Amino acid sequence: MHKPSLVHPGILVLLLFVLTVTACKNRQQQATPPSSDTLAKTTSAAPAVPQRKFGLSVDSFTVIEKTIERNEFLANILELYQVEEPTIALLAAKSKKVFDIRNIRAGNQYTVFCTKDSLQKAQYFVYQPNAIDYVVYDLRDSISIYTGKREVTTRSLTASGKIEGSLYETFKKAGADPGLAMKLADIYAWSIDFYSIHEGDWFKVVYEQQYIKDEPVELGSIRSAVFSHDGEPFYAFFFQPDSTQPGEYYDEQGKTLRRFFLKAPLKFSHITSRFTLRRFHPVQKRWKAHLGTDYAAGTGTPIIATGNGVVIESAFSRFNGNYVKIRHNNTYTTQYLHMSRRAAKRGQHVRQGQVIGYVGSTGLATGPHVCYRFWKNNVQVDPLRQKFPSAEPISQSAQLVFDQYKQDQRQQLEAIRIEEIK
Ligand SMILES: [Zn+2]
Repeated sequence: MHKPSLVHPGILVLLLFVLTVTACKNRQQQATPPSSDTLAKTTSAAPAVPQRKFGLSVDSFTVIEKTIERNEFLANILELYQVEEPTIALLAAKSKKVFDIRNIRAGNQYTVFCTKDSLQKAQYFVYQPNAIDYVVYDLRDSISIYTGKREVTTRSLTASGKIEGSLYETFKKAGADPGLAMKLADIYAWSIDFYSIHEGDWFKVVYEQQYIKDEPVELGSIRSAVFSHDGEPFYAFFFQPDSTQPGEYYDEQGKTLRRFFLKAPLKFSHITSRFTLRRFHPVQKRWKAHLGTDYAAGTGTPIIATGNGVVIESAFSRFNGNYVKIRHNNTYTTQYLHMSRRAAKRGQHVRQGQVIGYVGSTGLATGPHVCYRFWKNNVQVDPLRQKFPSAEPISQSAQLVFDQYKQDQRQQLEAIRIEEIK
């Protein structure tokens, strides 16, 4: 998830203008542009405004825009533009503190600003690690390096759809950003089992999209959503009760959607063996209790902590392989076995959703999976049969603001029309 905005969501909503994207089709209904755009247009109508890119005057240089090719490095690019070896060496050394030239990757954009004469000597090299950030390597006399961000505008969009296959497939088929499916799955991780969704279920989402000029560059956060599962609507409203706390998602009653534990230690996986007091062990070939839940996933899939806590064991043993054990409080402890690699140390504080290791098949395992174990008061229990209380509801003082915000968001959600996916 992106860091929640510190701006009060209610205010944000007023500032944003609404576009409609239906997840079902690529149709976009463009609303009237925001007033800032209109302002920009009137000012740019004046002919004297010089063209600038990355803060540099485009008119003063020969500007070459390209993409870093495979096996292409800054040194061999700059050689083409009359930059000599000692300058490149100095650049490499100086770059380490700002943006190390060794981190330049194939596939990303770069721009060379050269002298306008026949020599075409590079004056600036600008690298874009992504659509928003850029690094300027000033190659003139005393080399300097600095970073910048392109101007980003945020717009509020909507998406909706009827479930066909998985959530991810539904978004993909619709030509919508699958990243949005991931965010939706995150929000509802504690309330909806996305492996049990089916035809007849539907969703509506109000979310943010970041733009540079008119080009979408990065998905923002989901402001509100409703997911109808088995005819029951599950609402999610992003809200920040006060400025000292990060915002989170609340249901209609103002209860946070974040429960005590995540349903599974993997984002996308399937259960291959449930907690049972008696099963035929596939490796040991005998009947014994299976006091864990097995989730199969490919080797290297990130394993996440299902709740906040402290790592009390991070070790290797013959049967468990690489494993991590987390103590969450006086009552609950969880353990994650057969990791290919551990990513949490003993004594480390971990947060819910934090990666603590990677799926593997170390120890006594037939294939890559994570065996998830769960203790309540020192007794191993089936986590899927536990009922956990919801966290604190919204305080009374913030309730009024929340109610107003919720009403506004509900109206936006209701206005979204769900279309069939063809
Ligand atoms: Zn197991």
